[in-house]
Amino acid sequence: MTTSKESLPTQLVDGMGRTIVNLRVSVTDRCNFRCTYCMPADNVEFMNRSNLLSFEEIVRVVNIVSKMGIRRIRLTGGEPLMRKDLSQLIRMIKDVDLIEDIAMTTNAYFLKEHAQELKDAGLKRLNVSLDALDPEKFKEVNRRDCLEQVLEGLKEANRVGFKSIKINAVAVRNFSETEIMDLIEMGRSDGFEIRFIEFMPLDADRSWEREKVLFGHEILDSIRKKYDLVPVDNSLDIGPASEYNFADGKGKIGIITAVSNPFCDHCNRIRMTADGKLRTCLFSTNEHNLKDLIRNGASDEDIGKAVHDAVLIKEPGHKINLDSFEQPERAMYAIGG
Ligand code: SAM
Ligand code: SF4
Repeated sequence: MTTSKESLPTQLVDGMGRTIVNLRVSVTDRCNFRCTYCMPADNVEFMNRSNLLSFEEIVRVVNIVSKMGIRRIRLTGGEPLMRKDLSQLIRMIKDVDLIEDIAMTTNAYFLKEHAQELKDAGLKRLNVSLDALDPEKFKEVNRRDCLEQVLEGLKEANRVGFKSIKINAVAVRNFSETEIMDLIEMGRSDGFEIRFIEFMPLDADRSWEREKVLFGHEILDSIRKKYDLVPVDNSLDIGPASEYNFADGKGKIGIITAVSNPFCDHCNRIRMTADGKLRTCLFSTNEHNLKDLIRNGASDEDIGKAVHDAVLIKEPGHKINLDSFEQPERAMYAIGG
């Protein structure tokens, strides 16, 4: 079923009955890191800058989809802080009436310099990617030698008082095992929720294999050797992470079992790439070109209808666990994780 121009719905509900309230906006595919699970080591071909949506174009889409039920925006990339004047975009999104929450996922490299201005602009929540606290292991996975700079960024973000700072660590077998407890201890002492995300087949090197995924249940087992964990009841606000409180009251962790136990049945998000393609699933092999609509003079109703029609055919779930799985052409940095 499609909709006529005059009757854009006030809610985005897909063909499976899932109500979409989150939009993840990638602002660039450029990044100063080259994480092994995401980007190639070198020879990266980035998008031509003229193809990146301008702030005005992004905010136009945000404004349209806000009237269709989108309430939360997450800025991502590539590294979102590689995009000049990002705080300006945050201020513009904050002025969109119906948007309730603006968050960002970052590698934290530029946070020391920008945390305060981002907070002042209206950014509420931060997810920082940090896979290893050992400098050598950090260098091995991020292909950059800058753990100190990232830790300083994190410290500054904490100092300026973000409402929530979560740390994302990609869980890779034969790599992450040694880092789990160090990250956990840092989270407990500094007030960060540490989230482990099972390694997904979205790496540019296409070297993902199931054997390389460190599974959520294994991570929980190793944490439980030291700490008792109490599952958090998230039934009223189901997100991708299963969360656990430490029984001693000192903090919380999250496990995102994207491979071993996907949360697709509860997925409430869509994504827009930096070049204005709407993706209804992280693993979509089909995209909806909003940029051409925008640049060819489409009305807000036309753009809203394109989003609505795309959401109606949102994929029921990813197929990582099926023989028919096809890795999307774009790797994570070009999609916007
Ligand atoms: N550059 C920013 C950063 O790293 O936080 C934002 C973009 S990054 C693509 C967003 C998130 O995707 C990060 O938390 C990163 O760890 C995660 N990610 C990237 N590749 C992944 C993969 N193959 N499997 C699981 N998570 C991945
Ligand atoms: Fe860059 Fe983030 Fe990808 Fe790492 S995960 S290469 S920081 S976009």
